[in-house]
Amino acid sequence: MNERVKILGVNVDSVTMAQAVERVEQLIAAKKNSIVATANAEMLLRATNDDELKNILNAAELVVPDGAGTVWAARHLGYEMPERVAGFDLVQELMKIAPSKGYKFFLFGSAPTIADKAKLKAEELYPNIEIVGTRNGYFTAADESEIIAQIKNSKPDILLAALGVPKQEKWLAAHKDELNVPVNIGVGGTFDVMAGVVKRAPKWMQRAKLEWLFRAMLQPSRASRLIALPKFVFKVVRSK
Ligand code: UDP
Repeated sequence: MNERVKILGVNVDSVTMAQAVERVEQLIAAKKNSIVATANAEMLLRATNDDELKNILNAAELVVPDGAGTVWAARHLGYEMPERVAGFDLVQELMKIAPSKGYKFFLFGSAPTIADKAKLKAEELYPNIEIVGTRNGYFTAADESEIIAQIKNSKPDILLAALGVPKQEKWLAAHKDELNVPVNIGVGGTFDVMAGVVKRAPKWMQRAKLEWLFRAMLQPSRASRLIALPKFVFKVVRSK
């Protein structure tokens, strides 16, 4: 097991991308309906005011350090944190090995047609990948049993849920035993990026730890969420 680092009350795994992929492969083999979360600063900040989310994260089998903020916080608190493991990149790494390992995916979430476009993109990038189903993320309580049946019956190894934080984490935690999928990952805006409707920051901006700024510039509706970053930094500094 890897070291777990406590940031604002949430245990985050101190893992490299390669170790995260290896852990997911172990979880697929273990078939225990696991939850994998990708913790960025915004999610960790939210967990300080949302005990349900905090408990889900602390019970998750793997919580990867998504975002420069999470890596900074771990190091500031005096822990080892080898690198950032972005949710989008983790999905790509898993999709890359999926054809040879036989891992099947279900893409659940995002606006209508987005998950289908992400599926086409995955099939183009990773030949022979098996995406066994898609479903958009806009539904009512009345649709849930049908969605659960659709996912369960298609028997994926990995369910990617893109419903936004904390909806995706709460939905997965509530339904994981009915879904009976070995690995369930909340992936936020991953399908939007794969479908080409939202752009990922250029590599230089990712390296300069400025991906958050790029996302705010591109989607001004997200700009109000920027306040989470200084709040997160303040809370981490105070928690030391
Ligand atoms: N979404 C969804 N159902 C909802 C709310 C959101 O499928 O009820 C989708 C939304 O279309 C988007 C994703 O969830 O594709 C959230 O993306 P965002 O980048 O906001 O993720 P976060 O930053 O919350 O992880």
